[in-house]
Amino acid sequence: MKKEMIYEGKAKKVWSTEDPDQLIVSYKDDATAFNGLKKGTIRGKGVINNQMSNILMKRLEEAGIPTHLIRELSERETLVKRVEIVPLEVIVRNIAAGSFAKRYGVQEGGVFDEPTVEFSYKNDALGDPLLCPSHALALKLATKEELAEIEAMALKINEILKAFWADCGVRLVDFKLEFGRLKDGTIVLADEISPDTCRLWDSATGKKLDKDRFRRDLGGVEDAYIEVMDRLRKHEEE
Ligand code: 5GP
Repeated sequence: MKKEMIYEGKAKKVWSTEDPDQLIVSYKDDATAFNGLKKGTIRGKGVINNQMSNILMKRLEEAGIPTHLIRELSERETLVKRVEIVPLEVIVRNIAAGSFAKRYGVQEGGVFDEPTVEFSYKNDALGDPLLCPSHALALKLATKEELAEIEAMALKINEILKAFWADCGVRLVDFKLEFGRLKDGTIVLADEISPDTCRLWDSATGKKLDKDRFRRDLGGVEDAYIEVMDRLRKHEEE
């Protein structure tokens, strides 16, 4: 079914298929942070990220959010719709952490009255710089209508995922989304939703159950990925 590898990123490989409108995404255990400066392996991560992302995208589809998901093919591989990626990282935050806490000199953990949405320019050579919507327009990364739609979708996704994770005993602190255009221009959610792209804190203890354990050398990285996946599976079985 796989034809040729058309892209290899930090955490995934993408293959073409017989169908020009479909691609196969294959998740790796490789982990990087700080724009590739820190490199490592998180054993089993590819399997967890593939399965978690698919469960969450299925839930989002059920709630009316269009995604690139077609179906899971194996532990590490998923068939997705081919999209043209909008070169924006769309970040939603519910709680101060990471670059927000650093940029504004505030402690991690402060809960916002309203979620925030921000855009970064998806460009490794520039280090994914923060970007205001008018600059995204000036650079012709997306149209005004697309930006409005992406922001509205991101906020809706946040409400759905926040409630879902709360049921699993996990606080959804912040996360990064990527969107793509189908051939007809429809905007759909693409990329992945996983502990690589979300900050997930245990609701009771505040324990970090995401990639910050790798970024910050906190130890127990594999165990955290397994724990958060187990919570999700248990919730799915209920
Ligand atoms: P921050 O801007 O605080 O570093 O990240 C905010 C959220 O977006 C975190 O959940 C983080 O995991 C995610 N995020 C931001 N940039 C990237 C990126 O380049 N790759 C991945 N995997 N996640 C990112």
